[in-house]
Amino acid sequence: MKKIALFSLTLGIFAAALSIVSALIFPMEGVSAARDAPIEQEQESPSAPPEPETSLPPPGENDARVNVRVKDGDSVSEMSMFEYLVGAVAGEMPASFEPEALRAQSAAARTYVWYNISAAEPKKHADADVCTDPGCCAAFTSETELREKWGADFGKNLAKIRAAVAATDGIYITYDSEPILAAFHASSYGSTENAEDVWSGARPYLVSVPTPETSEDAPGLISAATISLKDFKETALKALPDTVFGADAEKWITDVAYDEAGRAASMKIGGAEITGARLRELFGLRSTAITVYVSSPDENTGDVIFTTAGHGHGVGMSQYGANIMAKNGADWREIIKTYYTGAIPSDEIFTEGIAL
Ligand SMILES: [Zn+2]
Repeated sequence: MKKIALFSLTLGIFAAALSIVSALIFPMEGVSAARDAPIEQEQESPSAPPEPETSLPPPGENDARVNVRVKDGDSVSEMSMFEYLVGAVAGEMPASFEPEALRAQSAAARTYVWYNISAAEPKKHADADVCTDPGCCAAFTSETELREKWGADFGKNLAKIRAAVAATDGIYITYDSEPILAAFHASSYGSTENAEDVWSGARPYLVSVPTPETSEDAPGLISAATISLKDFKETALKALPDTVFGADAEKWITDVAYDEAGRAASMKIGGAEITGARLRELFGLRSTAITVYVSSPDENTGDVIFTTAGHGHGVGMSQYGANIMAKNGADWREIIKTYYTGAIPSDEIFTEGIAL
Protein backbone atom coordinates (compact mmCIF):
# COMPACT_ATOMS: atom_id res chain seq x y z
CA MET A 1 0.00 0.00 0.00
CA LYS A 2 2.86 2.33 0.76
CA LYS A 3 4.17 1.93 -2.73
CA ILE A 4 0.85 2.85 -4.25
CA ALA A 5 0.60 5.85 -1.94
CA LEU A 6 4.06 7.02 -2.97
CA PHE A 7 3.33 6.87 -6.65
CA SER A 8 0.02 8.62 -6.41
CA LEU A 9 1.66 11.80 -5.19
CA THR A 10 1.08 14.69 -7.50
CA LEU A 11 4.00 16.63 -8.91
CA GLY A 12 3.40 19.53 -6.55
CA ILE A 13 3.35 17.43 -3.41
CA PHE A 14 6.33 15.45 -4.56
CA ALA A 15 8.35 18.54 -5.40
CA ALA A 16 7.52 20.02 -2.00
CA ALA A 17 8.57 16.83 -0.24
CA LEU A 18 11.79 16.69 -2.18
CA SER A 19 12.62 20.30 -1.43
CA ILE A 20 12.92 19.35 2.24
CA VAL A 21 15.70 16.96 1.46
CA SER A 22 17.19 18.92 -1.40
CA ALA A 23 19.82 20.36 0.88
CA LEU A 24 21.28 16.86 1.01
CA ILE A 25 21.81 16.81 -2.72
CA PHE A 26 24.91 18.68 -3.67
CA PRO A 27 25.09 20.00 -7.20
CA MET A 28 27.97 18.42 -9.02
CA GLU A 29 30.01 21.19 -10.53
CA GLY A 30 30.85 20.68 -14.13
CA VAL A 31 28.14 18.11 -14.78
CA SER A 32 26.63 19.31 -17.98
CA ALA A 33 24.60 16.37 -19.13
CA ALA A 34 23.09 13.05 -18.30
CA ARG A 35 24.87 12.05 -21.44
CA ASP A 36 26.66 14.02 -24.09
CA ALA A 37 25.77 12.63 -27.49
CA PRO A 38 22.87 10.45 -28.53
CA ILE A 39 23.75 7.14 -30.10
CA GLU A 40 23.92 7.54 -33.87
CA GLN A 41 20.73 6.02 -35.18
CA GLU A 42 20.12 4.71 -38.65
CA GLN A 43 17.73 6.72 -40.75
CA GLU A 44 14.79 4.70 -42.00
CA SER A 45 13.20 5.49 -45.35
CA PRO A 46 10.89 8.47 -44.76
CA SER A 47 8.90 7.80 -47.92
CA ALA A 48 7.33 4.54 -46.77
CA PRO A 49 3.72 4.86 -45.59
CA PRO A 50 3.26 4.66 -41.82
CA GLU A 51 1.64 1.58 -40.38
CA PRO A 52 -1.82 1.86 -38.86
CA GLU A 53 -1.58 2.70 -35.15
CA THR A 54 -4.34 0.65 -33.71
CA SER A 55 -2.69 -1.08 -30.79
CA LEU A 56 -0.36 1.36 -29.03
CA PRO A 57 0.29 0.45 -25.40
CA PRO A 58 -1.48 2.93 -23.07
CA PRO A 59 0.51 5.31 -20.85
CA GLY A 60 1.36 4.18 -17.34
CA GLU A 61 -1.06 5.84 -14.94
CA ASN A 62 1.61 7.43 -12.72
CA ASP A 63 3.53 8.98 -15.59
CA ALA A 64 0.28 10.18 -17.17
CA ARG A 65 -0.56 12.14 -14.00
CA VAL A 66 2.72 14.06 -13.74
CA ASN A 67 3.38 17.09 -15.91
CA VAL A 68 6.89 18.02 -17.00
CA ARG A 69 8.04 21.38 -18.34
CA VAL A 70 10.25 20.72 -21.35
CA LYS A 71 12.42 23.47 -22.78
CA ASP A 72 13.17 23.34 -26.49
CA GLY A 73 15.28 26.30 -27.56
CA ASP A 74 13.47 29.38 -26.25
CA SER A 75 10.08 27.77 -25.82
CA VAL A 76 8.85 25.71 -22.89
CA SER A 77 6.00 23.26 -23.30
CA GLU A 78 4.23 21.21 -20.70
CA MET A 79 3.52 17.55 -21.36
CA SER A 80 2.92 14.40 -19.36
CA MET A 81 5.93 12.56 -17.98
CA PHE A 82 4.89 9.65 -20.20
CA GLU A 83 4.92 11.74 -23.36
CA TYR A 84 8.28 13.24 -22.41
CA LEU A 85 9.84 9.86 -21.66
CA VAL A 86 8.71 8.32 -24.95
CA GLY A 87 10.44 11.16 -26.83
CA ALA A 88 13.52 11.01 -24.60
CA VAL A 89 13.99 7.23 -24.82
CA ALA A 90 13.41 7.33 -28.60
CA GLY A 91 15.96 10.16 -28.83
CA GLU A 92 18.58 8.46 -26.73
CA MET A 93 18.45 4.78 -27.65
CA PRO A 94 17.81 2.97 -30.94
CA ALA A 95 14.36 1.32 -31.01
CA SER A 96 16.12 -1.84 -32.16
CA PHE A 97 17.61 -2.27 -28.69
CA GLU A 98 16.31 -4.98 -26.36
CA PRO A 99 13.11 -4.20 -24.43
CA GLU A 100 14.90 -4.52 -21.07
CA ALA A 101 17.58 -2.04 -22.19
CA LEU A 102 14.84 0.39 -23.28
CA ARG A 103 13.21 -0.08 -19.87
CA ALA A 104 16.50 0.72 -18.12
CA GLN A 105 16.81 3.82 -20.32
CA SER A 106 13.27 4.94 -19.45
CA ALA A 107 13.97 4.56 -15.71
CA ALA A 108 17.20 6.56 -16.12
CA ALA A 109 15.46 9.31 -18.11
CA ARG A 110 12.63 9.56 -15.55
CA THR A 111 15.17 9.71 -12.74
CA TYR A 112 17.04 12.51 -14.47
CA VAL A 113 13.88 14.64 -14.49
CA TRP A 114 13.18 13.96 -10.81
CA TYR A 115 16.79 14.71 -10.00
CA ASN A 116 16.52 18.09 -11.72
CA ILE A 117 13.26 18.86 -9.94
CA SER A 118 14.70 17.95 -6.54
CA ALA A 119 18.13 19.55 -7.05
CA ALA A 120 19.22 22.39 -4.79
CA GLU A 121 18.89 25.92 -6.14
CA PRO A 122 19.89 27.26 -8.55
CA LYS A 123 18.10 24.84 -10.85
CA LYS A 124 19.66 23.91 -14.14
CA HIS A 125 16.73 25.62 -15.88
CA ALA A 126 14.75 28.25 -13.98
CA ASP A 127 11.68 27.86 -16.19
CA ALA A 128 11.78 24.14 -17.05
CA ASP A 129 12.40 20.71 -15.53
CA VAL A 130 14.44 19.40 -18.44
CA CYS A 131 15.57 20.53 -21.90
CA THR A 132 15.87 18.81 -25.25
CA ASP A 133 19.56 19.55 -25.77
CA PRO A 134 21.55 16.31 -25.40
CA GLY A 135 24.60 18.41 -24.52
CA CYS A 136 22.71 19.80 -21.51
CA CYS A 137 19.98 17.38 -20.36
CA ALA A 138 18.90 14.64 -22.77
CA ALA A 139 17.83 14.29 -26.38
CA PHE A 140 14.12 14.41 -27.14
CA THR A 141 12.51 13.40 -30.42
CA SER A 142 8.96 14.56 -31.13
CA GLU A 143 6.36 12.27 -32.69
CA THR A 144 6.58 14.22 -35.95
CA GLU A 145 10.35 13.67 -36.06
CA LEU A 146 9.90 10.01 -35.19
CA ARG A 147 7.45 9.53 -38.06
CA GLU A 148 10.07 10.87 -40.41
CA LYS A 149 12.93 8.94 -38.86
CA TRP A 150 11.19 5.60 -38.59
CA GLY A 151 9.09 5.65 -41.74
CA ALA A 152 7.32 2.31 -42.18
CA ASP A 153 8.49 1.15 -38.74
CA PHE A 154 6.88 4.09 -36.94
CA GLY A 155 3.95 2.17 -35.44
CA LYS A 156 6.01 -0.85 -34.42
CA ASN A 157 8.85 1.20 -32.91
CA LEU A 158 6.54 3.61 -31.10
CA ALA A 159 4.65 0.70 -29.55
CA LYS A 160 7.93 -0.82 -28.37
CA ILE A 161 9.14 2.42 -26.76
CA ARG A 162 5.75 3.13 -25.15
CA ALA A 163 5.67 -0.40 -23.73
CA ALA A 164 9.17 0.06 -22.26
CA VAL A 165 8.21 3.35 -20.59
CA ALA A 166 4.92 1.95 -19.30
CA ALA A 167 6.72 -1.10 -17.86
CA THR A 168 8.68 1.15 -15.48
CA ASP A 169 5.72 3.48 -14.83
CA GLY A 170 6.54 6.03 -12.14
CA ILE A 171 9.69 4.22 -10.99
CA TYR A 172 12.89 6.20 -10.57
CA ILE A 173 16.33 5.11 -9.42
CA THR A 174 17.28 5.92 -5.85
CA TYR A 175 20.26 6.00 -3.54
CA ASP A 176 19.48 6.64 0.13
CA SER A 177 15.87 7.08 -1.00
CA GLU A 178 16.78 10.06 -3.21
CA PRO A 179 16.69 10.24 -7.01
CA ILE A 180 20.20 9.70 -8.33
CA LEU A 181 22.06 11.63 -11.01
CA ALA A 182 21.36 8.94 -13.61
CA ALA A 183 24.25 9.67 -15.96
CA PHE A 184 24.59 7.45 -19.01
CA HIS A 185 26.71 7.22 -22.13
CA ALA A 186 26.86 5.20 -25.34
CA SER A 187 29.73 2.82 -24.63
CA SER A 188 32.85 2.20 -22.59
CA TYR A 189 35.78 -0.06 -23.24
CA GLY A 190 36.20 -2.58 -20.42
CA SER A 191 34.91 -0.43 -17.59
CA THR A 192 32.91 2.70 -16.91
CA GLU A 193 34.36 5.76 -15.20
CA ASN A 194 34.31 7.25 -11.70
CA ALA A 195 32.29 10.48 -11.63
CA GLU A 196 35.06 12.36 -9.82
CA ASP A 197 37.53 11.55 -12.58
CA VAL A 198 35.34 13.32 -15.13
CA TRP A 199 33.52 15.91 -13.06
CA SER A 200 34.46 17.60 -9.84
CA GLY A 201 32.39 15.62 -7.38
CA ALA A 202 32.26 11.95 -6.38
CA ARG A 203 29.00 10.00 -6.14
CA PRO A 204 28.89 6.64 -4.35
CA TYR A 205 26.73 5.17 -7.12
CA LEU A 206 28.76 6.58 -10.03
CA VAL A 207 31.86 4.44 -9.72
CA SER A 208 33.82 2.46 -12.27
CA VAL A 209 32.34 -0.99 -12.99
CA PRO A 210 33.09 -3.59 -15.67
CA THR A 211 30.96 -3.35 -18.82
CA PRO A 212 30.58 -6.11 -21.44
CA GLU A 213 30.53 -4.38 -24.87
CA THR A 214 33.13 -5.25 -27.47
CA SER A 215 33.99 -3.86 -30.92
CA GLU A 216 31.76 -6.54 -32.43
CA ASP A 217 28.58 -5.38 -30.72
CA ALA A 218 29.23 -1.65 -30.17
CA PRO A 219 29.95 0.18 -33.45
CA GLY A 220 32.94 2.52 -33.24
CA LEU A 221 33.99 1.27 -29.80
CA ILE A 222 37.56 1.82 -30.91
CA SER A 223 38.10 4.64 -33.36
CA ALA A 224 40.75 7.12 -34.44
CA ALA A 225 40.68 10.87 -34.94
CA THR A 226 43.38 12.42 -37.09
CA ILE A 227 44.06 16.13 -36.68
CA SER A 228 46.77 17.91 -38.64
CA LEU A 229 49.48 19.40 -36.43
CA LYS A 230 48.66 22.82 -37.87
CA ASP A 231 44.97 22.57 -36.84
CA PHE A 232 45.93 21.07 -33.49
CA LYS A 233 48.26 23.99 -32.75
CA GLU A 234 45.73 26.60 -33.85
CA THR A 235 42.95 25.14 -31.71
CA ALA A 236 45.23 24.69 -28.70
CA LEU A 237 46.57 28.26 -28.92
CA LYS A 238 43.04 29.66 -28.90
CA ALA A 239 42.04 27.66 -25.85
CA LEU A 240 45.34 27.73 -23.96
CA PRO A 241 47.15 31.02 -24.65
CA ASP A 242 50.09 30.00 -22.43
CA THR A 243 51.17 27.15 -24.66
CA VAL A 244 54.62 27.24 -26.21
CA PHE A 245 55.07 24.99 -29.23
CA GLY A 246 58.69 24.03 -29.93
CA ALA A 247 60.17 22.99 -33.27
CA ASP A 248 59.80 19.26 -32.53
CA ALA A 249 56.08 18.50 -32.75
CA GLU A 250 56.62 15.05 -31.25
CA LYS A 251 57.24 16.84 -27.94
CA TRP A 252 54.11 18.98 -28.03
CA ILE A 253 52.02 16.53 -26.02
CA THR A 254 53.64 15.24 -22.83
CA ASP A 255 52.92 13.96 -19.31
CA VAL A 256 49.74 12.06 -20.17
CA ALA A 257 48.35 10.87 -16.82
CA TYR A 258 45.75 8.10 -16.77
CA ASP A 259 43.14 7.52 -14.06
CA GLU A 260 42.35 4.11 -12.63
CA ALA A 261 39.74 3.39 -15.32
CA GLY A 262 42.44 3.93 -17.98
CA ARG A 263 41.22 7.29 -19.22
CA ALA A 264 43.40 10.35 -19.75
CA ALA A 265 42.97 12.48 -16.64
CA SER A 266 45.37 15.20 -17.74
CA MET A 267 48.32 15.99 -19.98
CA LYS A 268 50.48 18.89 -21.06
CA ILE A 269 50.11 20.55 -24.43
CA GLY A 270 52.96 22.91 -25.25
CA GLY A 271 53.80 22.88 -21.55
CA ALA A 272 50.28 23.90 -20.40
CA GLU A 273 48.23 21.42 -18.41
CA ILE A 274 44.83 20.38 -19.71
CA THR A 275 42.33 17.84 -18.39
CA GLY A 276 41.28 14.89 -20.51
CA ALA A 277 37.67 16.15 -20.47
CA ARG A 278 38.70 19.55 -21.80
CA LEU A 279 40.88 17.97 -24.47
CA ARG A 280 37.94 15.81 -25.54
CA GLU A 281 35.74 18.87 -25.83
CA LEU A 282 38.33 20.90 -27.74
CA PHE A 283 38.95 18.28 -30.39
CA GLY A 284 35.53 16.58 -30.43
CA LEU A 285 36.94 13.24 -29.34
CA ARG A 286 34.53 10.36 -28.69
CA SER A 287 35.88 9.73 -25.18
CA THR A 288 38.80 10.46 -22.88
CA ALA A 289 40.05 6.86 -23.09
CA ILE A 290 42.75 7.84 -25.55
CA THR A 291 46.20 7.10 -26.76
CA VAL A 292 48.08 9.83 -28.61
CA TYR A 293 50.48 9.48 -31.49
CA VAL A 294 52.24 12.26 -33.40
CA SER A 295 53.20 11.11 -36.90
CA SER A 296 56.07 13.52 -37.56
CA PRO A 297 58.19 16.13 -35.78
CA ASP A 298 57.42 18.52 -38.68
CA GLU A 299 54.33 20.59 -37.95
CA ASN A 300 53.80 21.26 -41.66
CA THR A 301 53.37 17.62 -42.61
CA GLY A 302 52.47 15.67 -39.50
CA ASP A 303 49.25 14.73 -37.73
CA VAL A 304 48.14 14.08 -34.18
CA ILE A 305 46.29 10.78 -34.06
CA PHE A 306 44.03 10.11 -31.11
CA THR A 307 42.81 6.56 -30.74
CA THR A 308 39.69 6.56 -28.58
CA ALA A 309 37.96 3.70 -26.79
CA GLY A 310 34.26 3.97 -25.98
CA HIS A 311 31.86 6.82 -26.74
CA GLY A 312 30.77 9.43 -24.22
CA HIS A 313 31.89 10.58 -20.80
CA GLY A 314 31.95 7.02 -19.48
CA VAL A 315 29.99 7.72 -16.28
CA GLY A 316 26.99 5.64 -15.19
CA MET A 317 25.06 3.31 -17.48
CA SER A 318 26.64 2.23 -20.73
CA GLN A 319 23.79 1.94 -23.25
CA TYR A 320 25.51 -0.67 -25.40
CA GLY A 321 26.48 -2.53 -22.25
CA ALA A 322 22.85 -2.43 -21.12
CA ASN A 323 21.77 -3.86 -24.46
CA ILE A 324 24.25 -6.72 -24.20
CA MET A 325 23.23 -7.46 -20.62
CA ALA A 326 19.59 -7.58 -21.83
CA LYS A 327 20.51 -9.92 -24.68
CA ASN A 328 22.16 -12.15 -22.11
CA GLY A 329 18.97 -12.31 -20.06
CA ALA A 330 19.32 -9.46 -17.53
CA ASP A 331 16.19 -7.45 -16.73
CA TRP A 332 16.20 -3.66 -16.42
CA ARG A 333 16.48 -3.77 -12.62
CA GLU A 334 19.67 -5.82 -12.84
CA ILE A 335 21.04 -3.44 -15.49
CA ILE A 336 20.33 -0.43 -13.27
CA LYS A 337 21.90 -2.08 -10.22
CA THR A 338 24.99 -3.03 -12.23
CA TYR A 339 25.74 0.46 -13.52
CA TYR A 340 24.60 2.48 -10.48
CA THR A 341 26.39 0.86 -7.57
CA GLY A 342 24.18 0.52 -4.50
CA ALA A 343 21.19 2.17 -6.18
CA ILE A 344 17.71 0.62 -6.27
CA PRO A 345 14.48 1.30 -8.14
CA SER A 346 12.10 3.40 -6.02
CA ASP A 347 9.45 0.67 -5.78
CA GLU A 348 11.99 -1.57 -4.01
CA ILE A 349 12.66 0.93 -1.21
CA PHE A 350 10.02 -0.57 1.05
CA THR A 351 10.89 -4.20 0.37
CA GLU A 352 14.68 -3.90 0.51
CA GLY A 353 16.17 -5.23 3.69
CA ILE A 354 12.95 -6.68 5.09
CA ALA A 355 13.51 -10.28 6.10
CA LEU A 356 10.45 -12.41 5.47
ZN1 LIG B 1 19.07 21.17 -20.02
